[in-house]
Amino acid sequence: MKKPLIVQKFGGTSVGSIDRIEAVAKHIIKAKNDGNQVVVVVSAMSGETNRLMGLAHQIDNVPPARELDVLLSAGEQVSMALLAMTLGKLGYPARSLTGGQANIVTNNQHNDATITHIDTSVIDDLLAQDLIVIVAGFQGVNENGDITTLGRGGSDTTAVTLAGALSADECQIFTDVDGIYTCDPRVVASAQKLASIDFPTMEEMARKGAKVLHLPSVQYAWNNNVPLRVLSTFDNGPGSLVKGEVCPRPVCGLAIQRALISVRFEQTYISSVVQQCQMLGIQVWSTIPGDQFGSVIISEAQYAKLNLLFKDKIIHIESSTALTLVGHQAKELISMSNELLARHMIKIAHFDVNDRSLMLFLSAESIDKAANLLHDSYIATNQFLEIHQKRA
Ligand code: ASP
Ligand code: MG
Repeated sequence: MKKPLIVQKFGGTSVGSIDRIEAVAKHIIKAKNDGNQVVVVVSAMSGETNRLMGLAHQIDNVPPARELDVLLSAGEQVSMALLAMTLGKLGYPARSLTGGQANIVTNNQHNDATITHIDTSVIDDLLAQDLIVIVAGFQGVNENGDITTLGRGGSDTTAVTLAGALSADECQIFTDVDGIYTCDPRVVASAQKLASIDFPTMEEMARKGAKVLHLPSVQYAWNNNVPLRVLSTFDNGPGSLVKGEVCPRPVCGLAIQRALISVRFEQTYISSVVQQCQMLGIQVWSTIPGDQFGSVIISEAQYAKLNLLFKDKIIHIESSTALTLVGHQAKELISMSNELLARHMIKIAHFDVNDRSLMLFLSAESIDKAANLLHDSYIATNQFLEIHQKRA
C-alpha cells in the first residue's frame, strides 16, 4: 500500500540555529516513523534574507532583479544542506534540492515569480528510495534556467504548490506561532487562536498584511483543495486548519500592514503613476484622489523603484499603515470605527472597502492601539455589533 505523503515547511525561526534545526529534524523523523513519506521545504535561517538584501542595497538602491534572485536564493540553500546533514547524522538519510533541481519552473517575474509547473519526477525517485527530500523554499527557475524567487514569505507557496503537485495528504506549515489568530497575537493580547479558518477570510487576511501565510499559498491551496495546516515547531499542538468557505462571524479577523508610504503627486499624474506601478510590479494599496493633489499608497520597500522614475514629480511622502477588518459585515463598519477611534484621538486618514473587508489607513504610531480597540469591540466581544444591529 502507498504510504501517505506529507509536506512539512519550516520557517526562518524554526531553522534559525543548529539547535533549532535539530528540533526540526525531530518533527520530520516523527512524521517518517509514523509511516509517512516526507517532503520538507525550508526557509532561510531567520534574518538571513534581510542580511543578503542589506548587502545588495549597499551596492544599489534598486539592485538588478536577476542578480538579487541569485543572491537571495542562497539563504534557503544554506538551511536545506544543514538540515540534510542533521538528518543524515541522526540516521535518517535525506537529500536536499534547490528549486531548479526539484524542477520548480516559474514565470520570468524576477523577485516576485509565480510557479507555473513542477515536474515531480526527481522527488518521486528520491522518495521511492525511501529518502527524506528537502527542497529550498522561495525559489525556482524560469524557462531559461535562471534562478527566480517568489516574493518575500514565498516558501509557504513552494510548500503548498509542491503538496498539490505531489497530491500530498497534508501540507503542514511549521512556524513560531501555534496557529492562525484573529489578529497578530504579538500586538493584540485578546487575539484568539482559531482551530480552523475559512479560505476567503484567510486569503483576504494574507492580502491585507497578515504574515502568517504567503498570499499565493492560500490561493493555490483554495483552488486545488490542498489540506493546509499551520502549527508550531516549538510545541505539539494541532495548530489551525485552513478549510471551507464560510466565516461564522460578522468580523472574522484583523490584518495589520506596516511600512507603507503615501506618495503625493499632482492629481494629473496619478493615473500614469498607477499604470507604471502595475508595469513595475509595485502593488498599489490605495489611491487617494484630490482636486489638485492625489496620493498613492505603496509599500516602503518598493519606494526606491518608484522614486527612480518619478523623482522630480513627487511632492511629499508620509509613512502609513493599514488596519483591515475582514468579514462579510466589515464594509458596514466605517462610521462606527471612525467614532470609536476618534474617542481615542485616532484619526483615519483614508479608507477603502470591498465586499469582504474594510481597510483603514492610519499613522504608524496609532495602529497598535487601533488594532486593540477594534479587535476588542468587533471580535473579542460583540458589543459594537449589537449596537450596530439595533441601529440598522
Ligand atoms: N526567506 C524568504 C524570506 O525571508 C522566504 C521565506 O522565508 O518564506 O522572505
Ligand atoms: Mg512566512
